[in-house]
Amino acid sequence: MADVPFTPPDWLAREEDLLAPYAMHTRLSRGRRHPEAPHAFRTAYTRDRDRIVHSTAFRRLMYKTQVLLTQTNDYHRTRLTHTLEVAQISRTVARQLGLNEDLTEALALAHDLGHPPFGHAGEEALDECMRDHGGFDHNCHALRILEVLEYRYADFPGLNLSWEVLETQAHKCKRRDAPEVAHLVGPGQPLLEAQVVDAADSLAYDTHDVDDALNAGIITPADLMEVPFWQQAVERVLAAQQPGPEQFPSTVLRALIDWQVIDLLDHTREHLRQHRVRSVEDVRHALGPVAVPGPEVKRLKVGLEEFLRRRVYNHHRVVRMSVKGQRVLRLLFEEFCRVPRQLPERYFRRVEKAGAERTVCDYLAGMTDRFAQDEFLRLFQPSALM
Ligand code: MG
Repeated sequence: MADVPFTPPDWLAREEDLLAPYAMHTRLSRGRRHPEAPHAFRTAYTRDRDRIVHSTAFRRLMYKTQVLLTQTNDYHRTRLTHTLEVAQISRTVARQLGLNEDLTEALALAHDLGHPPFGHAGEEALDECMRDHGGFDHNCHALRILEVLEYRYADFPGLNLSWEVLETQAHKCKRRDAPEVAHLVGPGQPLLEAQVVDAADSLAYDTHDVDDALNAGIITPADLMEVPFWQQAVERVLAAQQPGPEQFPSTVLRALIDWQVIDLLDHTREHLRQHRVRSVEDVRHALGPVAVPGPEVKRLKVGLEEFLRRRVYNHHRVVRMSVKGQRVLRLLFEEFCRVPRQLPERYFRRVEKAGAERTVCDYLAGMTDRFAQDEFLRLFQPSALM
């Protein structure tokens, strides 16, 4: 066979052909805090994505609670698998809309990096512990991870990601006026790539929390029939096929995801047209987010989320896990603050500069569920190995 000459594509040039005018083009990036030479064949956002995947914080997502504690079973969502689902849905939507897929993927993979152990319960506990010391918000913490806490590179602290990735994270912080956040938040709306990840996050967790709750025996398919969103998805499925009882829930869940993705695409396109969005500047100046579900899906989602709150997030088994996780974090926080010398050396060295409370909070927030449980035993169980 004759050799076929192959010239690798110039990705920056391809962006000009492939991306919509309202997409974030790599060539327009505001760059990195610490300037770096461009890579031979990876764009800035591709490198951002790769750095996120290689970070310690990303690997820790594997053992961090989404809703159910990591030990519940071996196949429910953890923060890591949730993140992968969000990334996959976000990329599909981004591709359809002509957005920057590399940037979208980087944003999706980073979106939950700042979560502490034990899910939202853990976040509440840390926020309470830090009440007089600036509080705790997982989105702000993700920024600290990306800018300060990761320590893999000799030339800079953190991961030195592109401004747009940091800006997206800063947009989600509750405390916009905090100095480490304020300088990153520009005026107006976040980039469309960021909005897509937000919408994908919400549709992914609403759907997979149902799946996990079914698999853990917290709810049954019959319970779900009180939820109009589920009911209508069932009707859609039955109109096309008759899945057996084993495949029934996953078939309905697939229909729910598909419905929401198509609805998101339709309504986003509609908004883009209606508001004549033709550039990133137009996205930023829009009166509200452009990538959002339509009114019917929004309303149905509210009903599903109300059901999830009542029947799943407040189920006694889930509440027990949450309360136990909070107790573990609170006691660890008190104990490490009481005697900071118990912190590992790398953290103890930071106490003077960052203060004992913030340092302990950083240490705890970085933990996986099981590491927090092990640390608890090491500190409080007299016979535990150190
Ligand atoms: Mg998420």
